Amino acid sequence: MSVATLPGTAAPSLWDAAHDVDARRPRSLQTQLGASDTVCGRRAAYILHGIAPTDESDKRAAILGTYIHQGLLESARTEYGWLVERSIQDSRIRGHIDVVQLDAATAAQLPSRHRPAVAADVLTVEDVKTKSTYLWDHVRRYGATAAELRQVFLYAGALAGVGFEDVPGQRYLARLGPLDIGRIRFRFINRDNGAEHVQEVDFDPQRAAEAGWWVERVRETSDPQQMPRDFNGPGLDAICDYCPFRSLCWPDVEPGAPVQTALIHNDADREQALIDYVKGHELTTEGDRIKKLARKKLDRSPEGIYGPNRLSWRGGNDAEEDDLEAMVDLHEIAGLPVPMVPDPNGMIKNLTAAGLPVPRRKTGRKTSRVINVGPA
Ligand code: SF4
Repeated sequence: MSVATLPGTAAPSLWDAAHDVDARRPRSLQTQLGASDTVCGRRAAYILHGIAPTDESDKRAAILGTYIHQGLLESARTEYGWLVERSIQDSRIRGHIDVVQLDAATAAQLPSRHRPAVAADVLTVEDVKTKSTYLWDHVRRYGATAAELRQVFLYAGALAGVGFEDVPGQRYLARLGPLDIGRIRFRFINRDNGAEHVQEVDFDPQRAAEAGWWVERVRETSDPQQMPRDFNGPGLDAICDYCPFRSLCWPDVEPGAPVQTALIHNDADREQALIDYVKGHELTTEGDRIKKLARKKLDRSPEGIYGPNRLSWRGGNDAEEDDLEAMVDLHEIAGLPVPMVPDPNGMIKNLTAAGLPVPRRKTGRKTSRVINVGPA
C-alpha cells in the first residue's frame, strides 16, 4: 500500500489510514436502510434501490464524531451498565440503537450481570449526536431536527414493536420481546469542547408509526428520481454538499450555473419562483425591521439571562487601523525603501478634475448577476 505524505514533510497523513478503516466499518458497507439515511427521502430511495454512491465527501468530521461516540458509549456500558449499540430489525428498518437504559421492571427480567447500575424511572432510548460549535446555539435552542426525531422514533418503534434483534450476543435481550418504551433522550456532545446538552421527549407510538409510514412511502417508490428532494441542493443545504448521491440527484447544468436552475422548466416555474422570491423578500424586510427595533431597545441593557435567551455584548473597544505615517517614518529609520504604490483613486480624481476620460479595460471576469424584481 502506498502512503501519501503531508506536503513539505516525510510524515504520512493519518487521515488516509482513518478513511480506510472507516470504509471497512460494517455501517459503511451496509446497503440496507439505516435510520441515519432517513434524513432525505430521495437519498433513502437511492439506498433502498441499491444505487451506488456517486460522490466522495470529506469525512473527517464524521470520523471524529464516530471516535467520540464509540468512546462515550463504551464508558456508558462499562460504568453504568447501559445497553449500547444493540441491533434491532423490523420490516422497515435495521440498525443499532446507541443506548437503552432499562427501567427496574424490565431489568429484573435479565440475569443480574446484565442489569444497569442504576435503572431508569422509565425505559429510555437514547441517541448520542456530536455537533460542532458552529451548530451548538442552534442545537440548544431548537433541539433535534425533524429528521433526527424521525430516525430515533423509527428505531424506538422497532424496539416497541418487535424488541431487540434475535442474533448471537444479544439473544437474552431478544427474549424480552417488545419493550414498553417511556422516553426518548437526545444527548448532544460538542465536538470542540465536550459540552453536553440533553433533550428528552416522551415516546409517542403515533410518531413512531408516522416515521414507519415515511419509510414505507420511500419503499413504494419505483423510481428514486421521482422521490421528492427534502433539501435545496449543494450550495444551499450542507447536507447536500456532503451527500454521496449529490451529482445523481442534481443533473448537470451549464458551467457556472447553480444546480437549482435545473428546477426551472417553463414559464410557470419562473412565475412561481418569482412569487417565492418576493415573499422571501417581504419576510426578510419585516424580520429586519423587528430585529433593528429590538437591537435599539436593548442598547443599554446589561448582560444576563432573560427568559429563553442570554444577552451578552462583544466589541465596544477602540478600533485600530494601519498608521501610514508611522509606517513611512519607521521605513526611513530602518533604511527600508518606501513602496511607491500607484493610487488609482487619486488618479481618477485628477483625470476627472482635468476633464479627461477615465480609461477602462475588460478584466476577463464577469460581474455578478443581480436580480431585479418589480410588479408586472
Ligand atoms: S443531494 Fe440533497 S436532496 Fe439530493 S439526495 Fe442528497 S440530501 Fe437529498
